[in-house]
Amino acid sequence: MARPYVLAENTWKTVKETNYELAVLPWGACEAHNYHLPYGTDIIEAEQVGAEAARIAWEKGAVLTVLPAIPFGVNTGQFDVKLDMNMNPSTQLAVLRDVVDVLNRQGIYKLIILNSHGGNDFRTMIRELGLQFPKMFLCSCNWYQAVDQKDFFENKDDHAGEMETSVVMHLKPELVRPLTEAGDGAAKKFRISAMREGWAWAERKWLQVTKDTGVGDPRKASAEKGAKYFKVVTEKVASFFLEVAKADRNDLYA
Ligand SMILES: [Zn+2]
Repeated sequence: MARPYVLAENTWKTVKETNYELAVLPWGACEAHNYHLPYGTDIIEAEQVGAEAARIAWEKGAVLTVLPAIPFGVNTGQFDVKLDMNMNPSTQLAVLRDVVDVLNRQGIYKLIILNSHGGNDFRTMIRELGLQFPKMFLCSCNWYQAVDQKDFFENKDDHAGEMETSVVMHLKPELVRPLTEAGDGAAKKFRISAMREGWAWAERKWLQVTKDTGVGDPRKASAEKGAKYFKVVTEKVASFFLEVAKADRNDLYA
């Protein structure tokens, strides 16, 4: 059975008769995730968080469609990690412009980019495309920041750590290697104090920071933790979808 909120599963008959209020564009990355998680981790997360949150929002009355996930993210810092598939920010802007152009032409004036990868940053693109497409309400969110990970996991996750490992153990257990094969995800920090304090920023050269490509210890991960977290995250993301779907584009501020 086709899920009515997943574009790729539906036919033209259904699609042309549905008045979508909102489109959701999941955006991932294809990159190494320590020794135990698949390259498609961010794509799996983006697709499944998007579809489950859309299901919840749809059942509460949002008429939305989740577009196919974009599989490549910004991996400029991982240039030397084998088959990390970098898509430059300027290319992402071109891709996003074409997606927004389709929606704008067809009167679907709201788009949420559901981001799954820390190297992606759509904010400057949204500013630029907002000028070009003034009718569109464009926004982005990072689902992994929607709820406090501290309530679910012992070790902080930046990349392929306890959170991501738990989530993939829940969503695609057949693709997770035994945790005994995982590296510890130990990572170096910048020597420059302003960078450590977080108010100055520079890109990290990934393989100088971590040996196993992970940043965050995955070894306390479990499918149970992943299931609990996924449920709370998708409920929160769903309420965001619902609010945006029902929002009046011309009356956004109170
Ligand atoms: Zn990831």
